[in-house]
Amino acid sequence: MAPSPAVGSVLAGLEGTRTWQEQLYRELHRHPELSHQEHRTAGLVAHRLRAAGYDVHEGVGGTGVVGLLRNGEGPVVLLRADMDALPVREATGLPYASAVTAPDADGNEVPVMHACGHDVHVACLAGAAQLLADGREHWSGSVVLVCQPAEETGDGARGMVEGGLRELVPTPQVALAQHVMPLPAGRVGTRPGPALSAADSMRITLYGRGAHGSMPHAAVDPVVLAAMVVVRLQTVVSREVPPGETAVLTVGSIRAGTTSNVIPGEAVLQLNVRTYTDATRTTVLDAIQRIVRAECAASNCPREPEFELFDRFPLTDNDAAATDRVASAFGEFFGDRAGPVGQQSASEDFSDIPVALGVPYTYWFIGGIDPGRYEEAAQAGRVSQDVPVNHSADFAPVVQPTLDTGTQALVVAALAWLAAGHPDGAGHSSSGVGAGGASG
Ligand SMILES: [Zn+2]
Ligand SMILES: [Zn+2]
Repeated sequence: MAPSPAVGSVLAGLEGTRTWQEQLYRELHRHPELSHQEHRTAGLVAHRLRAAGYDVHEGVGGTGVVGLLRNGEGPVVLLRADMDALPVREATGLPYASAVTAPDADGNEVPVMHACGHDVHVACLAGAAQLLADGREHWSGSVVLVCQPAEETGDGARGMVEGGLRELVPTPQVALAQHVMPLPAGRVGTRPGPALSAADSMRITLYGRGAHGSMPHAAVDPVVLAAMVVVRLQTVVSREVPPGETAVLTVGSIRAGTTSNVIPGEAVLQLNVRTYTDATRTTVLDAIQRIVRAECAASNCPREPEFELFDRFPLTDNDAAATDRVASAFGEFFGDRAGPVGQQSASEDFSDIPVALGVPYTYWFIGGIDPGRYEEAAQAGRVSQDVPVNHSADFAPVVQPTLDTGTQALVVAALAWLAAGHPDGAGHSSSGVGAGGASG
């Protein structure tokens, strides 16, 4: 099947947005901002959306930006991008590499880099916004654009919901978002069902009893206890999660004591858990607590352990019908550059928005790696060694075809709803629909 005529008409404008999109991308890349500090980025986006004719709200849930374009009767589609960068020192050597440092949430000055490609997402969303506005005679309905802060800390989407997002915009029929990843640039990948894991971080404090290093009988040694806990936790995924399910349990930090001849009074572990169903999430989190309590009892601890959950991300569980609709539209437009993609172990907070609004969503992936470089690595069987992944200091999506593809993907997916009931579906422009005008 050929793509709907509306897609071709709206995307014809890409020739006119590409240059400023590339400039905006390099500008954002050079000036990354940490989670909750996206003031400059938000200002640039808000300016772009206003110029394109959107009603714009700033400061939603912190630095969040919401744009609304009403274009007559029809479906409401929400498109979302995230804006924040990471405390990583850029090592790409690009002419537009970041040399920025900024104070983090604890006040420590840290290097800042767009190491997750959220600058790609913002530049693509701004371009798609412009194209949909300029091509509004070819579709009808409303577009809601959401630029969210603080995806990396997992609380930006929730913050926008709590900041009144629901009251600012009409309820959408569908919410759409995308992420650049280490696939060849030009490719798009969709996946129905669980696409990204739920993530939970947990801080566990184990209470022993401190003593002289030469007098272990007077102590309850939290170092030995912590070691037992770490080993025993390895059985959660291997022995308690069904073989057909996937979960990850990583002990990323273990801290106890200060010197060799003092048995410390406590130990602190930090864990990271990734799961793909609510049932598995509950199984794993319960098992961790059960094992830790039992090990503490076995060590004769004077006090119960303490558990603190933090940096929690929801499951990204793509709606089957919405994903199917987007996947067919991608297939028609991108041909064999579109296809299914595997389950990813990373996590996202995007779904907090559609879940709060009670609407279906789908979240897809676009490639960002130079196709030649990717192919070379694949031939050598060295993709995981030679292709930089998100959050690495070398992660640098190629500008094109990454930006074009991400922009096209947003427009094609949005029009899968917006153009559906429009006369343009028959290949004719509706008459009498000017800028800001309503169509039927
Ligand atoms: Zn990230
Ligand atoms: Zn990201």
